[in-house]
Amino acid sequence: MVTIVSEQIQSQPVCIVVGASHAGVNCAFELRKQGFSGRLVLIDADMHLPYHRPPLSKAFLNTPLDDAPAPLKAKSAYEQADIELFLGAMVTKVDAKENIVSFNKGGSGNAENGYSIKYTHLVFATGASPIIPPIPGLNVAENCLVMRNAKDALALKSLMHAKRENISNLNIVIVGAGYIGLEAAASLRKAGASVTVIEREERILARVASESVSNHVARIHQENGATILCQRNVSAVERDTDKGFQWIVCDNGERYRADAILLGVGVRVNSELAQEAGTSLHRGAISVNTHMQTSIKNIWAIGDCTSFTHPLYGENSHIESVQNALEQAKVAAKNIQQISVADAGDAAPLQNYKAIPWFWSDQYNMKLQMVGLPVNADCQVTRQESKEALSVWHFVQNKLVSVEAINSPKSYVLGGRAIDKNAFIDKSKLADPSQSLADLL
Ligand code: FAD
Repeated sequence: MVTIVSEQIQSQPVCIVVGASHAGVNCAFELRKQGFSGRLVLIDADMHLPYHRPPLSKAFLNTPLDDAPAPLKAKSAYEQADIELFLGAMVTKVDAKENIVSFNKGGSGNAENGYSIKYTHLVFATGASPIIPPIPGLNVAENCLVMRNAKDALALKSLMHAKRENISNLNIVIVGAGYIGLEAAASLRKAGASVTVIEREERILARVASESVSNHVARIHQENGATILCQRNVSAVERDTDKGFQWIVCDNGERYRADAILLGVGVRVNSELAQEAGTSLHRGAISVNTHMQTSIKNIWAIGDCTSFTHPLYGENSHIESVQNALEQAKVAAKNIQQISVADAGDAAPLQNYKAIPWFWSDQYNMKLQMVGLPVNADCQVTRQESKEALSVWHFVQNKLVSVEAINSPKSYVLGGRAIDKNAFIDKSKLADPSQSLADLL
């Protein structure tokens, strides 16, 4: 057993970041940018050099099999920034009393080859993992795929590659019509596979988009040959061992043949470590204040794993997006550095998180962009610009809070500015696409 405990040198703080994805990597680099001169340790269970996740369900599925996911930073950048990167390393324990993080490298899951490092500040950037619904016959190790990391995307890509000579005979059933399931559906259709998407709600994207956007996206999928089935509840998966495929059984009795099943029913936050360490949670996510600080003063949390207060959208906000991960990373890094400097006698106020959220998705020739959140919206205006372009504007008591745009970058950009400036918009003219947006805003 190898245990290395780095004793903190008084003048040298140690910051450990658990999770090296969009939030964790950006927090580490931002810390250096802010002048953090202490020891900086970045740990992730994933073996791959940290990479961009959004392409995994999109263009990456249609690139050659041996392509690596696009790295967030070159390997040399970590060395240059003096960031110690531990990959394939699972953090197993955080002792918040003694300020010690324990992890093992090599995935052994026990104390063999274990490391323990003492920290001054700890950042949880542990993200989330796919939900596996308890459906009889469904077994993630054996007969279904998920889509969260490079390994997941490579598994689907390998399957597509193996069937490439006869891909129209490859029947993929996607359970869940959220963004990730629909993006994968579009990539699979592009490759020529046969795709059926099964959704429990009465429309696709029900949790995250307006009805106009859902209807538009569903139409584009259908025009591109995907089958979209809503109000279907999958009740079982049955295996036809002789023929090597499975049946997805719905509770209305319908059965769909699947050579492979892809689950896209949402994620649950990776918060077990934080909970064991004693930080407060809200609905399973790590609660942070506007500075990204958890209920334990020197423990921070950023990105998909957080529940936070947003000045526009209120308490217990939870956002899963790259932009949110990046902005929270910046705020946490600035505050950690601020506290480190303040410890040396130079106090200044901490930064608050207040960025307006934005998000995008690419499916076929469709670019979806969203800015703001339609929380408590009491009015929405749809602006149909052409058959392929539309935008939906959401208001709370005449105040613009969110814009969804499909193939309409102008609506997205100008809408974002209007939310930011709290600008007045004449709603009666907004729905008329002959009225110039620039004049209206
Ligand atoms: P994650 O990316 O989930 O990273 C968390 C990391 O923590 C993981 O690498 C994990 O291995 C590590 N970890 C967890 N626990 C431990 C532990 N105990 N020990 C060591 N390591 C640990 N967002 C958009 O804005 N636009 C998009 O188009 C878009 N498309 C997406 C497509 C896909 C396929 C996926 C999966 C996500 C997409 N997202 C998109 C969402 C976006 O990728 C996430 O919001 C973002 O990755 C969140 O970053 P994060 O660093 O908070 O968490």
